[in-house]
Amino acid sequence: MTLTLPIGSTIGIIGGGQLGRMLSVAASRLGFRCHIYEPGANPPAGQVANQVTIAAYDDHAALRAFGESVDIITYEFENIPTEALDLLQDLAPIHPGREALRVSQDRLTEKMFLRDLGLNTAPFADITDAASLNAALAEIGTPSILKTRRFGYDGKGQARIMSPDDAAQALADMEGAPAILEAFVTFAHEVSVIAARSLDGAVAAFDPGENVHSDGILRTTTVPARLSQNQRTDAVLIAAEIANALNYVGVMGVELFVTADGLIVNEIAPRVHNSGHWTQNGCAVDQFEQHIRAIAGWPLGDGQRYADVVMENLIGDDMDRVPELAKTPDCAIHLYGKSETKPGRKMGHVNHIKRG
Ligand code: AMP
Repeated sequence: MTLTLPIGSTIGIIGGGQLGRMLSVAASRLGFRCHIYEPGANPPAGQVANQVTIAAYDDHAALRAFGESVDIITYEFENIPTEALDLLQDLAPIHPGREALRVSQDRLTEKMFLRDLGLNTAPFADITDAASLNAALAEIGTPSILKTRRFGYDGKGQARIMSPDDAAQALADMEGAPAILEAFVTFAHEVSVIAARSLDGAVAAFDPGENVHSDGILRTTTVPARLSQNQRTDAVLIAAEIANALNYVGVMGVELFVTADGLIVNEIAPRVHNSGHWTQNGCAVDQFEQHIRAIAGWPLGDGQRYADVVMENLIGDDMDRVPELAKTPDCAIHLYGKSETKPGRKMGHVNHIKRG
């Protein structure tokens, strides 16, 4: 296989947050240039990229100039407006492709896609109004979770329904947005698989990580995860099946619930994923380099895990702990260059390397 994207080419990255930043660093290590497109001011990725465009997703002139300046396009988040993608796709190849975005932008489409693949999901129903919610509650029962179909992240746009009495308030919380109802899954723990698929269809997965969330935000990822050998194999096969079905190119995250009845797919993210940050200090080739390799048409790298790692997100005031963490042995610090610390805001992460 030849290197499809010549070294020195420019990669366009949509989204200038920490994921875009770490993708940009990985791309520059491989000799590529990066151009970031981001609507918000002072994007963290802008500090480490060759070029930055600050413009809205409906600014057609800016989108066109961005698309014409790059050789390929990738992204750090899945909620890119369809119109922007329509315009960009005529200017440069977009990886991962449109199908991955279409499926993952809408929780209902995503759940139906997973079910059609024969994978286990939480029982779910399409909710458009009070009548459909009541009907779904009669079938799915409580506890359950109402989630907006689109634009939900880090637990936002979700309302728990503990008893049918909560239904009206939960529906009001959706503020009229289309939603799905999901049965509440009783899980032992949550894991995720970070998988990569290359342009020529090769698939590789990192060792699954075990995730702990609070307030809907990922706090820690631990490798190895508590999984039996069979579960570990199943988790990787599920991710590979999804990647193949989407004809996927790049890195994706697949979140799974570990239950007494096996693995249940919660959601897929068509991008590098917070729960894959441990790979930066646990593998020769981390998820960011793997993504760049995949979209550039390079062979996938060696993602074998060589250390036990606990990745801990630094959220809001956790930044105050950085001086102490800097003195801690076997602790790799990754900060995102965000100027303002806010509660709930991801400011950085640390990878604690565990020696046996
Ligand atoms: P999501 O945005 O769908 O990834 O949900 C955020 C977090 O909420 C998940 O990582 C779980 O901890 C929890 N959660 C979401 N959906 C369910 C479910 N159907 N059953 C149990 N917990 C859930």
